[in-house]
Amino acid sequence: MLETVEKIWMDGEFVDWADAKIHVLTHTLHYGSGVFEGVRAYETARGPAIFRLKEHIDRLFDSAKIYMMDIPFTREELTEATIETVRVNNVESCYIRPLVYLGYGVMGLNPLPAPVQVSIAAWPWESYLGEDGLAHGVRMKISSWKRHDPNIMPPAAKGTGMYMNSSLAKVEAIKAGYDEAIMLSPQGYVSECTGENIFVVRHGRIITPPVTAGALEGITQSSVRRIAEDLGIPYEVGNILRSDLYVADEAFLSGTAAEVVPVRSVDDREIGEPGPITRAIQEIYFRAVKGEDDRYDDWLTYVRP
Ligand code: PMP
Repeated sequence: MLETVEKIWMDGEFVDWADAKIHVLTHTLHYGSGVFEGVRAYETARGPAIFRLKEHIDRLFDSAKIYMMDIPFTREELTEATIETVRVNNVESCYIRPLVYLGYGVMGLNPLPAPVQVSIAAWPWESYLGEDGLAHGVRMKISSWKRHDPNIMPPAAKGTGMYMNSSLAKVEAIKAGYDEAIMLSPQGYVSECTGENIFVVRHGRIITPPVTAGALEGITQSSVRRIAEDLGIPYEVGNILRSDLYVADEAFLSGTAAEVVPVRSVDDREIGEPGPITRAIQEIYFRAVKGEDDRYDDWLTYVRP
């Protein structure tokens, strides 16, 4: 069960957690016609700080643009509302979920006449793949479910409906005894995981699949890139085959909910305990989000300035 807090922001005002309700004929509930973000706020010495808020708000507006949803708030208003949501709930760290959805009023597959509504909820949420996964790595399975073809579902938009695909892959992996799934693109290249980007390390280089393989342009992924560049580790965006995962020196995942997670094995091919590059990236990432490395101060928005 979710750990609840006091308030949720809905269309411009705060309502009590228990009262944040919608009608059963809400358009998005039927057709998956929403877009959303996953953001985190971390505890720092200067109080809670939201990690890369601008990039998340920008991606939310990009997602809405792709689906022709006209968000009835400005970027500044949603930025301020996100900060306020963390502030009023008095949490030191939390996961934040801004959602743009089509509300009650019309049904059917033309979404354009439906009202566009926005909610922002926050709650304390531990690392998505667990503490053991963060420390020792997760066991991955290549899914029999393919990731979206970009002309079936645009991977650049974080649309609610596209996550049915993620859930199919996640359930398959869990039922088979693994922690998480890796999905291949329709062309057979490694794409991403159900809610994370993936990286392999071979011969001292980090490689991650391109958006053309169906991967979301991850904000944590771009943080990994900057950290790798600062560490002088070569970083490439390029196609990866499943066999590249089997023979990787190291592999790891990145995502807002999961954070930076080592991969321990893929399809029962052992990679083992986290290697030095994974460890180095992970360590700097966790220092950065907590405001302990001033090179990355531009990533943080302090909630109580
Ligand atoms: N891929 C998918 C499918 C995701 O849902 C996410 C989480 N938003 C990611 C990758 C990682 O993106 P980010 O680092 O921006 O959270």
